[in-house]
Amino acid sequence: MVCPEQNRKIAVIGAGIMGATIAWRLARRGVSVVLTDKGQPGHGASSHSFAWINAGAKEPAAYHNLNRRSLDMWTRFAQAVGDDGDPATVGLRWGGKVSWEADPANVERLVARVRQLQAWGYPTRLVDAGELRRLEPALEVGPVAAAEYSPNEGQVEPQLVVDGCLRRLGAMGCEILTGTEVLGFERGGDGRVRSLNTSAGSRDVDGVVMAAGTDTTRLASLAGIRVPQAESPGVVIRTTPLPPLLNNVPVVYAPALGDGRREIHIRQCADGRLMIGEGDQESLAEDDSQAHADDLLARARSYLPGIGDAQAIPVPVGWRPMPLDGYPVMGFAAESPNLYVALTHSGVTLAPVLSQLAAQEICEETPADAVLGPYRPQRFAGLTAEQIATAAHPRAVKLG
Ligand SMILES: Cc1cc2nc3c(=O)[nH]c(=O)nc-3n(C[C@H](O)[C@H](O)[C@H](O)COP(=O)(O)OP(=O)(O)OC[C@H]3O[C@@H](n4cnc5c(N)ncnc54)[C@H](O)[C@@H]3O)c2cc1C
Repeated sequence: MVCPEQNRKIAVIGAGIMGATIAWRLARRGVSVVLTDKGQPGHGASSHSFAWINAGAKEPAAYHNLNRRSLDMWTRFAQAVGDDGDPATVGLRWGGKVSWEADPANVERLVARVRQLQAWGYPTRLVDAGELRRLEPALEVGPVAAAEYSPNEGQVEPQLVVDGCLRRLGAMGCEILTGTEVLGFERGGDGRVRSLNTSAGSRDVDGVVMAAGTDTTRLASLAGIRVPQAESPGVVIRTTPLPPLLNNVPVVYAPALGDGRREIHIRQCADGRLMIGEGDQESLAEDDSQAHADDLLARARSYLPGIGDAQAIPVPVGWRPMPLDGYPVMGFAAESPNLYVALTHSGVTLAPVLSQLAAQEICEETPADAVLGPYRPQRFAGLTAEQIATAAHPRAVKLG
C-alpha cells in the first residue's frame, strides 16, 4: 500500500525492536524514513529481554487480546524480516511454555489463572506430572502440585529482528544514524515538530515517531508531552553455549526452591546459550553480580541437569520501558500533532501488532481507536501527580 505521506520525511527516534519495526513498516509504505539511535541499534532494553512471546500473563481481556493478536502475527512478521522468508533466521521458535508449582499453597492461583485464560479462549491447559515430563524430557521437574502448558507461546531473538529490519531499511535507501542522539525539537506555532536537534546537527522532518524506550519520558517532556514511566529493572543472565537442551518446549517457568526465593524462568537462545531470570515478566531485580548469576545457574541446573558444567555469564541490569500504568502508550500527541509516541512493556511480544497499527495511523491518518483507544498518550495529560500515582501499575516504584 502506498502511504499518502510518500516522500515525506519521518524520523524514528530509537532503533530498539519498537523503532526498528515501525521504521520498516513505514518504509514499506513508501515513507522516507530516518532512523536514529543514540547508541547501537538493539542495544537498549531489547538486548536485555527474555523475549518470551506470550499473551498468558496479560490482563485485562482487551490487553490479553492485543497480545494474542500479535502472537498470531509473529510467524508472518518473522518471515518478512528474516532471511529468505525463514522465521528461524530471527530466532522465532514455537513449542509453548510450561510452568508448574511444587507448593500446594500455590495451586489455587495457578488453576485460577488457567481457568481465566481458558474463559478467554486461550489454548492453555492443566497437565499432570506425567504429561509435564513427557512434554519436555530434559526437565527434572521434582514434586508437581499443579502444572500448566501453553502450547501457542514461543521465543524470538530481538537483535536478529532489529538487524533484519535495518538491512531492509538500508536496501530501501533509508537513512540509519547510529551514535546520534536526539537532543531536542524545533516546533512551529501549531506545535508540530519542524526539525530535530541531534548530536550530529539539525534535521528537518515532516513527522516524528518517538520510540526511545525508557528515555521517552525525558524526551517527550522536551516537547511538552507527559509520558510517565515506572522504574522497572530486570536481570536475565546468560550461559556459555550448550548443545540443544530444550528440544520440545522452549520456555520454562520452574518453581522457587522453597527457600524464600522466587520462581525462575529459562529459555535457550538460537546460539545455544541459556537465558535465566527470576520471578515473573515484570519482577524487579538489580543484582547483576557474578554470585547472583552463579546462583541462578545452580537453581536452573537442578531442573535441567543437562546444563552440566556450563558457566554463568552475568548481564548488567536491563531497564524495561514501563508506562506508569503498565499499558502501551501509542498515538499522536495532542501537544504536537505530528509526533507519534510508541512506548510499551512487552514490546517483543507486541512489536508485530503495534508497529502495524502505528504505521497505519501515521500513513493513512485512520485512527485505530477500536484497538488503541485505551492506550493514547492523552490519558496522562490532565492527571495530577497524585492521580497518576493512584493509577500506577502495582509494580511502579518511582515516577519517571
Ligand atoms: C529484563 C527484561 C525482560 C523482558 N522480558 C520480556 C519478555 O519476555 N517478553 C516481552 O515481550 N518483552 C520483554 N521485555 C520487554 C521488552 O524487551 C521491551 O518492551 C522492548 O525491548 C522495548 O523495545 P523498545 O524499542 O521500545 O526500547 P529499547 O530497546 O530500549 O530501544 C530504545 C532505543 O532508543 C534509543 N534512544 C533513547 N533515547 C534516544 C535519543 N534521545 N536519541 C536517539 N536514540 C535514543 C536507545 O539507544 C535504544 O536503542 C523485557 C525487558 C527486560 C528489560
